[in-house]
Amino acid sequence: MSAKIRIAVLHFAHETVTFLKNDTTLDDFIYQGSPARGEALLASYPKSYIGGFVKMAREFEGVELVGIESPLWPKTYTGSGWVTREAFETLVGRMLEGLRAQGPFDGVYLALHGAMAVRGVPRPEAELARRVREVVGPRACIAATFDLHGNEDDEFLKHADMGFAVKYFPHYDEYLQGERAARLLVRMIRGDFEVAHATRKVPIITATVRMWTGASPWMDLSQRALVWEARETDVHVNVFFGFPFADVPDVGMTVQVMTNGNPKLAAEIADDIAAFAWRRREALLSTTKIHSIADGVALAKQAIAKDETPVVLADHSDRSGSATFLLREIVAQDLSRTLIATIADAAATARLKASGVKAGDAFDMEIGGRVDESAGEPVRIQGTILNAAEGYGQFWVVVKFGRDNVLILSTYLVQLMEPFPLRALGLDLDAFDVFAIKSRVHFRRGFDDNGFARTILLVEPDQPFLGTIHLAALPYENVDLKRFYPYGEPTFPE
Ligand SMILES: [Zn+2]
Repeated sequence: MSAKIRIAVLHFAHETVTFLKNDTTLDDFIYQGSPARGEALLASYPKSYIGGFVKMAREFEGVELVGIESPLWPKTYTGSGWVTREAFETLVGRMLEGLRAQGPFDGVYLALHGAMAVRGVPRPEAELARRVREVVGPRACIAATFDLHGNEDDEFLKHADMGFAVKYFPHYDEYLQGERAARLLVRMIRGDFEVAHATRKVPIITATVRMWTGASPWMDLSQRALVWEARETDVHVNVFFGFPFADVPDVGMTVQVMTNGNPKLAAEIADDIAAFAWRRREALLSTTKIHSIADGVALAKQAIAKDETPVVLADHSDRSGSATFLLREIVAQDLSRTLIATIADAAATARLKASGVKAGDAFDMEIGGRVDESAGEPVRIQGTILNAAEGYGQFWVVVKFGRDNVLILSTYLVQLMEPFPLRALGLDLDAFDVFAIKSRVHFRRGFDDNGFARTILLVEPDQPFLGTIHLAALPYENVDLKRFYPYGEPTFPE
């Protein structure tokens, strides 16, 4: 009975820290495997949004998915700044060309992030949707998935029909939101869902380190959205916490609600959740404890003495991956059985690779720092190389030093989300009391929410560098912080 449905699948995602000095270039999106098309694109992130989308879409009869040539995440991952205009225009141009060549389509799925920032394009995701709409026409249905760190307003939904953002940070429900997007897209194409939506901007801005949904009050915000979805049929709620390290006009918190043809209900729910967030604004911004690096390392020592290990020391503010403040303090306070994962140093890893380093070689180098002031000064490490390997587009060097400490050098920023992949580098996780990592909240997936670590310490340097919780120290040009709590006194609702 069901007519054949053709859905185009496209991917374009970045979380852009616009205060980083290194732009995200066209070259960063082009590497072995990226751009991807056809089945390769559909299989690109099997456990994430696109994986869920493909799995669910294929459960419907008569659905054909067409992977349109799209860039995967840049090889710099989140460690790069403004996406260049050239990268955006070239990549989007190729995506649209693919859409045109392989159309017509009944539907389009866009796997996005929401916090991409492009030089000269104020709302890149909405702009992509606008151009996609031009190609596929007014009758095609367009659905997207988003990260809750997206900086969005109502612009995207002027061109696309639906968007589905994750509700958890760490983002456990990427696959689930992909499944939802597929189901709703097919239903909409078949005339079983007619979207009505409401969007509310909430004038709250804060650093992502505070946004862990594993505890109140951020958990309560997600929970409120989940309750609305559970008690009403066909209600879908996005609570975008926003991404403050992007100097873009739609920065900050946004609530979006989609219903099946019921604009009044969408507005009622959006108002409720926005008002709830606003009422809890003080708690949202004050609950997370963040230590100075010196205090954090001292507390780690105390935790070891009390046998409350493993300890995670998370430098949440390092956005280049090269920051050495925590490493320096670990050396100064003479921590032992500590793993530092990682210090990003493209120049050092390139030199080591060129010289053909191998396990057993002596190591004596100044590493890290340098890339900008937030990275600090390089630190000299003397030790022995345990391993040197190529993987995930990076060169990894594992160095043993001090009292059973291990340092991992990488080419780019590494936000370690769980400890277990380290075993691939030959490391025994039981050999460490302390894991010193670069991450804000994502690490809780594999260090906290699974019961791995007994002590979690969030740290940042005293200086308000670009990943800081002290947003007023950042050189915004397109954002007036005074429009947001806690930097001004906005009235809400306006
Ligand atoms: Zn995110």
